[in-house]
Amino acid sequence: MKKKISIQMMAITTLAILSTVILVIFAFYELFEKQILDDLKIYAHMLQADGMVEEEKLEKYRAGEDNLRVTLINGEGKVIYDSEFGSDSLGSHRDRPEFVEAVKDGEASVIRNSDTIQKSSFYYAVRLYDGNVLRLAREADSVLSVLLSIAPIILGIVVCLWLLCAVLSKLLTDSLMKPIEQMANELDHLENVESYEELIPFIRLIKKQHEDIVKSVTMRQDFTANVSHELKTPLTAISGYSELIENGMAAEGDVQRFASKIHHSANRLLTLINDTIRLSELDIAETAGHVEEVNLYGIADTCVSMLKVSAENHDVTLSVNGKPVTVMADKQMIEELVYNLCDNAIRYNNPGGHVLVTTGESGKEKYLKVKDTGIGIAKEHQERIFERFYRVDKSRSKSTGGTGLGLAIVKHIVAKCNARVELDSQPGKGTEITVFFS
Ligand code: ADP
Repeated sequence: MKKKISIQMMAITTLAILSTVILVIFAFYELFEKQILDDLKIYAHMLQADGMVEEEKLEKYRAGEDNLRVTLINGEGKVIYDSEFGSDSLGSHRDRPEFVEAVKDGEASVIRNSDTIQKSSFYYAVRLYDGNVLRLAREADSVLSVLLSIAPIILGIVVCLWLLCAVLSKLLTDSLMKPIEQMANELDHLENVESYEELIPFIRLIKKQHEDIVKSVTMRQDFTANVSHELKTPLTAISGYSELIENGMAAEGDVQRFASKIHHSANRLLTLINDTIRLSELDIAETAGHVEEVNLYGIADTCVSMLKVSAENHDVTLSVNGKPVTVMADKQMIEELVYNLCDNAIRYNNPGGHVLVTTGESGKEKYLKVKDTGIGIAKEHQERIFERFYRVDKSRSKSTGGTGLGLAIVKHIVAKCNARVELDSQPGKGTEITVFFS
């Protein structure tokens, strides 16, 4: 970037210097031309006003004073006198533009390039009272030769300005880049870096992304640590009990009990792994799944039937209420969502308690509500229960087959369905979780 800025600045400087020099030279040269022609005109008019213009009178110009060439031409174009060449050596001037125009209009001025392009000839011709034409001429450097003659000076100036510009552009780019480089070096403390106003939204975005990345890395690390930890307990149990059986250390009566414990731990492992896989699937998936028209009431009804046995085991009754409402979503996701909410409502309920699932419409939104008469959740835990592996009562969660991932999966599904979730809970009274679909 620095190099690019420097190159661009040098290019602009060179262009500016060259165009200024060339424009100034052309403007001055125009003035110079005008000045020469004006001088010639004054001379010519002075001679014309003198009356008769004769050879002797013109003789004083022969010395080449003022670099002036005087030519007297008669009405037919024949040169009568020329201060530089013998009149006889010059051919007819009848076709010279300045002669033709002076005969016609009384006066004429013409600029011609000489044989060498380095010189220009300036002519001013005036018709005299006797019909002759008096022509004054002067030679001067052409604009090209002026340009060539000052080329070394221009080159010198360009080189000096270039050097100056190189130093200045380095200082400028350094000062321009400093805050950006500082930002790159201090990504963790962007608030301490003094930057440009225009970059503030950019800094905010980078800062946010940076924080998100850090958060996500920490979350992943925590998650991996948690998963490993969760897997360890059932695996240790499986390993321990199977070793006892293997070594013949289990009494006859214990074998079945140990096998049942192994079975239970294996099931727990499977549930944990399934939930972990599901969570990472939802994490990776960018789409909202296979979206179709899904009947919330229908799904709630099926789910309640599926959980009947579990509810009976917990001495909890289940019912569905409300009217059939449909939402556009992935059916499997909605099934998982309802299942996880109802499963929790049963597991964290009290014996003799009740779970009511309601579907309906509220304004423009469709909703699904799972209300239980269970143990409830204290205020301080309410924010956190949607986090992975967050449990209010770890032993109760484990003893009822919880993984600590159910509500994290719910949260993911809610986000994928563009829905929102509301929690209302009172310890000892019960919990009400409502998912609103827009
Ligand atoms: P778990 O597998 O432990 O149930 P969840 O992610 O489903 O994990 O829930 C997280 C925690 O939130 C639970 O451990 C429990 O403490 C609390 N919780 C969830 N649902 C309810 C509920 N209906 N009533 C009381 N507590 C609940």
